[in-house]
Amino acid sequence: MSTPSRIHHVAIIGGGFSGVMTAVNLARLAKEPMRLTLIQAGALGRGVAYSTTRPEHLLNVAARNMSAFPDLPDHLLQWLRTRMDFDAVPDRELREKFIPRQIYGDYLRSLLLHYLEVPNGLTSVQVELIHDEAVDVETQPQGACLHFRHGPSILADKIVLACGNETPASLPGAESLTEHPAWVANPWQAWHRQLPAQGGSVILLGTGLTAVDAVLTLRTLGWQGVIHAVSRHGWLPQSHFRGIDYPDFPPADEDLSRLGLEGLTHLMETHCAHLRERGANPAIIVDRLRPHTQRIWEGFSTEEKTEFIRKQAARWNVLRHRIAPEIHAQLTSAQLTGQLQVHAATVTLVESHGNQIQVHTTADHCLTGDLVVNATGPQTRFTRTSSPLLQNLLQRGLIRPDALDMGVAANVDHTAVTPSGERSHLLLALGPLLRGTLWETVAVPELRGQAKRVAETLLGLSSQTIESPIMMEYMI
Ligand SMILES: Cc1cc2nc3c(=O)[nH]c(=O)nc-3n(C[C@H](O)[C@H](O)[C@H](O)COP(=O)(O)OP(=O)(O)OC[C@H]3O[C@@H](n4cnc5c(N)ncnc54)[C@H](O)[C@@H]3O)c2cc1C
Repeated sequence: MSTPSRIHHVAIIGGGFSGVMTAVNLARLAKEPMRLTLIQAGALGRGVAYSTTRPEHLLNVAARNMSAFPDLPDHLLQWLRTRMDFDAVPDRELREKFIPRQIYGDYLRSLLLHYLEVPNGLTSVQVELIHDEAVDVETQPQGACLHFRHGPSILADKIVLACGNETPASLPGAESLTEHPAWVANPWQAWHRQLPAQGGSVILLGTGLTAVDAVLTLRTLGWQGVIHAVSRHGWLPQSHFRGIDYPDFPPADEDLSRLGLEGLTHLMETHCAHLRERGANPAIIVDRLRPHTQRIWEGFSTEEKTEFIRKQAARWNVLRHRIAPEIHAQLTSAQLTGQLQVHAATVTLVESHGNQIQVHTTADHCLTGDLVVNATGPQTRFTRTSSPLLQNLLQRGLIRPDALDMGVAANVDHTAVTPSGERSHLLLALGPLLRGTLWETVAVPELRGQAKRVAETLLGLSSQTIESPIMMEYMI
C-alpha cells in the first residue's frame, strides 16, 4: 500500500484584501489537496480600508477597476448587479461609480464565504480560520512553527505575510497623550462617537485620504465647528477627472525603465507642458505611467529612489491617489465656507491643555483642538515596525528590509529575501509591505495581480498573471 504524501500547509497572516484574495486564488487554482490557514487579528475579509461603518466613505477607484480578480475584469460589476441599490443604474454609470467602501467590504466577504468559509466541494483546499494575532515564527527542519498572542501554535510549510499597512507614525509628545480624551491615535477607530460641541474645533494631523474621510464624516454628521488640517505641504488630494486621449505618452520608442530619474522627470515635464498648452490636466501623465511604474522603479538606482522619495513623492501621491469628484466638491465647499482650514506646516509637538490638546507647528501660532486625530498615514521606517511578528522575523534573520527600509525585501515571485540575499524557503510577502521593492503596491489594481501571483508561486505554477490588455486599459 503506498503512503499518502503529506498535505502541503500554507498559513496566510493577514485577512484584508491581500490575504483573503491570496487564499481565494489558492482555492481556485489548487489541483492537489492542501491545507490553508488564514490568520486575522480582527474582523476577517475587510481589512482597514473596507471595514468602515460610514456610508459616506467611498472608494477612490471607479467600480470598473475594482474587480478582485486580474483575469475577470467585470467581476465586481456583475456582483453589484445582485444588489437592489444598483438595479436601476445604467451600465455606463455603474462602471464609473465610486461605490461606498462598506459595500466593497461586503464583496470581499462574499468571496470569502463562497470560496473559503462554506465547504462546497468546489475546491481541494481544506480551510481553517484563526482569529488571533501571529506574533512569532520559529523555523523547523521542515517548515515552521507559528506562535500566536492567545491560542496554540501551529505548524506550516509556507507562510504568506499579508500584514497590510503600519499604524500611523507617532508624533513628538504623543506618548503622553495615550489616555487623553481628545487624542485619537488611530484614525480608523470610531472617534466620531465622541464629537466635541458644535462650536468646537477638530484638528486633523495630515491632509491625505484619511483626513478626507474625517472631513466627510464631520460634515455628514452635521457637525458645524472648525476643522483644521495640518501637513507639511498642505496639499489635499485632487479630484478624478475625465481625461483626454493622449497616446503620445509614453512614447512608443522609449524604454521607460532605462531613463533613470532625471531622464524620466525631463520626459514627464515636457509632456505635462504639452498637456497644459492643450488646456488638459497634466495628471494624465501619472495615470499613463501606472502600468509601467513598477518596472520604472526597479530600474532606478537606490540613490534615485531615495531622491524621488525625498523630493517628489509627496507631489506624486497627490496626483496619483485622487478622490471621487463628489467628495472633492465637499472639500472645496468646506474650504469656501471657512469650516475647513488647511495649514502647511510641520507638527513639532502635541501636548495636553486641560481637556483640549495643543498642536505646535513650524508656523508661528499653535492650534488648540477639542479633538485631535492623527491622520499622518502609516509609518514608513520598516525596521521601526510596531508589529511584534515583523520585529521577531527581522531579529531571527528570516526577512530583511528593502534597500530603502520601507518594507520587506522580496523577489519578483514574492518570495522574501533573507539577510544573506537568498530566496526564503518559508516566507512570501505581498501588499503594502512591498512598497520599497515595487513602489506602486497599495491599491486593488496592483494587489489583485499580486494575490494571484503569490498563489501561483505557492502552487509551483508559472505565472499566468499578466494583466490582460483590457485590464491594463482599466488601470489608466
Ligand atoms: C482608508 C483607506 C481607504 C482606501 N481606499 C482604497 C480604494 O478606494 N481603492 C483601492 O484600490 N485601495 C484603497 N485603499 C488601499 C488599501 O490599503 C488596499 O486596497 C487593501 O485594502 C490593502 O489590503 P491588505 O490586505 O494588503 O492590508 P490591510 O487591509 O491593512 O489588511 C491587513 C490585515 O492584516 C492584519 N494583520 C496584520 N498583522 C497581523 C498579525 N501579525 N496577525 C494577524 N493579523 C494581522 C491586520 O489586522 C489587517 O486587518 C485604501 C486604504 C485605506 C487605509
